[in-house]
Amino acid sequence: MPEIGRELKRRDEKRTMKHFLVWVILLSMPLRSSLATQPPRQGSASEITKHPQTQTALDWFKPHESLINDVQIKLAEIPAPSYQEEQRAAAVEQLLGAAGLTTHRDKIGNVIGELRGANEKEVVILSAHLDTVFPAGTDVKVHHEGERLSGPGISDNGTGLAALVVIARAMQAAKIKPRRTILFVADVGEEGEGNLRGMRALVDAYRAKLKAAIVLDGSGTDHVTTKALASRRLEVVISGPGGHSWSDFGMVNPINAVVRGAVRFINTKVPTAPRTTFNLGQIEGGTSVNSIPHEAKLKVDIRSESEEELTRLESALRECMAAGVRDEQESARDRSKGRLDWKVELLGSRPGGELAAGSPVLAALRAADEFVGNHSRLERSSTDANIPLSMGIDAIAIGAGGNGGGAHSLQEWYEPSGREMGLKRALLTLLEVAGIAQEKNAITN
Ligand SMILES: [Zn+2]
Repeated sequence: MPEIGRELKRRDEKRTMKHFLVWVILLSMPLRSSLATQPPRQGSASEITKHPQTQTALDWFKPHESLINDVQIKLAEIPAPSYQEEQRAAAVEQLLGAAGLTTHRDKIGNVIGELRGANEKEVVILSAHLDTVFPAGTDVKVHHEGERLSGPGISDNGTGLAALVVIARAMQAAKIKPRRTILFVADVGEEGEGNLRGMRALVDAYRAKLKAAIVLDGSGTDHVTTKALASRRLEVVISGPGGHSWSDFGMVNPINAVVRGAVRFINTKVPTAPRTTFNLGQIEGGTSVNSIPHEAKLKVDIRSESEEELTRLESALRECMAAGVRDEQESARDRSKGRLDWKVELLGSRPGGELAAGSPVLAALRAADEFVGNHSRLERSSTDANIPLSMGIDAIAIGAGGNGGGAHSLQEWYEPSGREMGLKRALLTLLEVAGIAQEKNAITN
């Protein structure tokens, strides 16, 4: 980046932090809400919704709509590529602290805000991933066009992170002490090559106590992810001697080999059921137009509802690349100038899994849907919920309300109208799973 660009960026970062502090202060302002008197026994979803503290928490969102938007914008404007979430993590940690949680950062960089329950031996996680797919240097400024906010990462996962913070804030306003300990987590490494490393570390650390995980990812209220989509990310690397385009013509060319292999691979048949997909997502190699490259790389993402198909497709990729290399070497006019080396490496593997039928977390979500008048469909997707689901731990992933689109593109957008329903839905699901402590249990249990 040129000096002037760096300077502008530095100023931008300063401004972001300054605005951000204003919001921390606003969030820490005294509560208007009154404390509930005698909470009834925790029980069915309807009992949770009738709980006066629940009502207080639910009522918090509406009058704070513009504050919620601002939290989302401020967080989305802090760059957070996978493996570089530090600055955004610090911002979220401040906000969770201001919402009354005891916060810390684990070894891997996850922000963990604890709301201690009456029963500390049982833990429920509410999480939202910090990272975005956008590389460092991407302009993440949020633009306003009427209601619509646009900017890379505004919805995925600006919406989830804002929800994480304000759900904690609403529970603080209602002075809710949960029955089970709730961990509000902003986790690292959900996207791409992050390979769910934040959630892996988290589940690892809390596994013995972990009763359920609710993952807030993106916008909307139309779905609930109960099935983890298995995926693998692979990188093909082909290398050769490299040379001059004219004088070494006829030498093996790694880019030719990648292209030959890739053409074979994209003609591989994949079934529609079980749904199986592949994407050639990134290709690079070469140094100049008049050099025979010494290296070519290709990154491929494969996904399937079936582990078997996934394995088949991975083998197909390896076979196609082997054939591409062979074709290139056999057709090289000058075989005296060296051969190709190649390998296919596994960059990441996300395990599949499914929520058990009759799971309490799904029952809680359904009850919340009913209460807020929402209909949602079950979905299979690749999210942080893959990790707990693959280990048989109850988990769902849901959108955090409003509407968004263009995820993972520079045209990403978000419209907050209707967000309240999504926040209520998430809060009610969380409260139903975590429970509300009875007064007499509030000190010990
Ligand atoms: Zn996401």
